Amino acid sequence: YFRALEDVGIHLNRPQIQAVRHGKGPLLTLAGAGCGKTTVLAARAGYLMAMRDIPASSILLVTFTSKAAAEMKLRIAGLPGVRPAAARAVQARTFHSFALAMLRHHGVQDEVFGETQAQHTVMKMMLRQLGLSEAFQPESLLAALSAWKAEGRSADELPETVREEADAKRAMLAYEAWKQERNKMDFDDILLRASVLLRDPDVLQPLQRRFSHIMVDEFQDTNALQYEMVQRLAARHRNLMVVGDDDQTIYTFNGARQESILEFDKVYKDAKVITLDINYRSDARILGLGSNIVAKNVHRRSKRLSAAGHEGLPPQFATPSGPEEEAAHIVTHLLGQVEEGQLRYRDIAILHRTASGSRSIFEQLIMRDVPFIQYGAGAVFYDQTLIRPLMDHLRLSLNPRRMESIPSTLGPLYVSREAGMEWIMREEKQQAKKYPLIHLSRWDRLRDFQRQQVKERIRLIRSLTTMKPAYAIQEMRRVFYDKYLESGDTGAWTHYKETMQESLEELETAAKRFDTVEAFVSFADELSERHRQMESLRREEDSDAVRLMTIHRAKGLEFPCVYWIGASEGILPHSSALHSELPEDRRAGAAPTAAVDNDAALEEERRLAYVAVTRAKELLYITSPASNHGKPAAVSRFLLEAYGVTPPEASKPETRRGSFGQPKNASGYGSRVSGGASASGVATRVSSKPGPGNAAARTATSVAGSRTEPRISVPVWKCTDDACKAWMR
Ligand code: ATP
Ligand code: MG
Repeated sequence: YFRALEDVGIHLNRPQIQAVRHGKGPLLTLAGAGCGKTTVLAARAGYLMAMRDIPASSILLVTFTSKAAAEMKLRIAGLPGVRPAAARAVQARTFHSFALAMLRHHGVQDEVFGETQAQHTVMKMMLRQLGLSEAFQPESLLAALSAWKAEGRSADELPETVREEADAKRAMLAYEAWKQERNKMDFDDILLRASVLLRDPDVLQPLQRRFSHIMVDEFQDTNALQYEMVQRLAARHRNLMVVGDDDQTIYTFNGARQESILEFDKVYKDAKVITLDINYRSDARILGLGSNIVAKNVHRRSKRLSAAGHEGLPPQFATPSGPEEEAAHIVTHLLGQVEEGQLRYRDIAILHRTASGSRSIFEQLIMRDVPFIQYGAGAVFYDQTLIRPLMDHLRLSLNPRRMESIPSTLGPLYVSREAGMEWIMREEKQQAKKYPLIHLSRWDRLRDFQRQQVKERIRLIRSLTTMKPAYAIQEMRRVFYDKYLESGDTGAWTHYKETMQESLEELETAAKRFDTVEAFVSFADELSERHRQMESLRREEDSDAVRLMTIHRAKGLEFPCVYWIGASEGILPHSSALHSELPEDRRAGAAPTAAVDNDAALEEERRLAYVAVTRAKELLYITSPASNHGKPAAVSRFLLEAYGVTPPEASKPETRRGSFGQPKNASGYGSRVSGGASASGVATRVSSKPGPGNAAARTATSVAGSRTEPRISVPVWKCTDDACKAWMR
């Protein structure tokens, strides 16, 4: 069989073969990124069918995304001895699609609106009905609700210490009620209901009989409910194979429990453990960097990975002055690579840490006509739910008659948009000379305080025109959000507030580039227009376009060329992992203590950095902007640690001096990796072409429409280990 596999180009190594051939009982396949875990899963499914006569329909293969499930089926179909019908019959599913199939089988007819888009639409509708559209982003509300429910709690139990929380909770409860009244369920409901159903022996036993072999990919990111489901299903045959990498647990905020994989062989005492330690994805130096980064985590199983690939170009590094320059640099550089025919657009991924962290690069890509697909995001930054109303206020300040912008000003007044707009339109017909919002102030349905608010709003809008756009944003933020953002932290809402704060800061940063409200607004409008024109590109899965996504989304994927942007303190590691519990001595700039660095949040950030780096096959470009949201930002400690450079006074990014740490042994990976990213303190030769496309010689164009922006000079890529150290000097 393995020879037949080789005939179709799959040359498995010994431990891989061992995993594929594994007989009965639980099996844990533990391996670092790119060591062929997913490859082995597919091969084992084929092997079981071809060599062990296991019917396809008895195999359950759980993947993390539905895209991965589809790919898995394709892979299996290409294996020797697998008939097309058999490949189709394999149950390659996500937890959710499996749970849903089960619910359906047991007569649950509730309609799913699993598409996040549909959930957004409903949440948006609830917010609108409650007059809260302006105050909340549906995405973040849904995420907060989901995290809350993943722990088995209902929305009724959410805390509501301040009014905004009570408002958010009202929206969530309305959303839950809306579903129940219409017999609908979302993803969280599906999982919850399925796991309850599985506790019934009459449901469980037939499934246990049917699935003789259960395999789970990305096991390190299963949450408690999912793990429980797997355990129950596998309880009879006990042929449970899980594959994963504890270094890639990056969804703990969604309930993922790293313990599931770390303790698998304690729960299943007879489990066979096979480790795969040859990475076939990345060039040696890229793998070396990834290994060195994650080696600093304490909460992990240590691994020694070696690279099958050769020592290609070392990871390249640049320190642009800020995200704008970073974006300009990257776009210039990638255009150069594509023009020179080295890469196609589709070979390139740009990875960022947070949702709002893609704003600058997104704008550069659009304004410079680079075809790209952004995974997981539906809209231009300025059109997002939280941002849109602020932009609408700016638009109204330029043109008070702009009807499309009126509805978003109604939200915070707690009046129905429909009724409000109806009144305005009616008045408009009778006395068209007045501005629409002035009509509103005369609406007989308003209570006194609301009328007062409309008047204040009119005053605010009038004053915006004369302000610098960034100041106008600050002003609106102060009026609309500050009270809430500064109100005390109550666990459930912290994450939500953080995203909100981040988006607002990003908006302010974006506005700073413009001198007038008019210039800012027309830039945002042009961006939306161009984004619309790229619509068809986004609909085709396979289009030749750059992939732009968060690191979370990139899990399990690989690309010939990766740009990891925002490798700076406060971005990755994210500020939320830093400001938590920094002890006094750390703040004063003392050497980092183990206790701080082992903080769980920081370890998860480090795993994210590891995931980012290990997506790259041949080319890896890392940028550390020296500022973020106008504040100085140091190079990410994860890079400095990896090269044995002591982070300079970690929480004081303005200090740029530091000293070299003791040279360390290249403990993170095996002997096949030499040079490159080894933390041996020996500088590696810079084999750098000075950036393909002669990036150094080019000057990035400034963002169209922003005359105030200074011309950007492009920094030169440097080989990472030299560059990191030089930078610290
Ligand atoms: P991740 O942790 O990122 O999910 P993974 O462990 O699932 O990674 P795969 O995606 O299965 O790794 O494999 C990584 C790359 O290595 C793929 O391009 C795959 O085709 C290749 N590969 C896997 N095993 C071998 C092998 N024995 N020989 C050659 N190439 C291999
Ligand atoms: Mg994988």
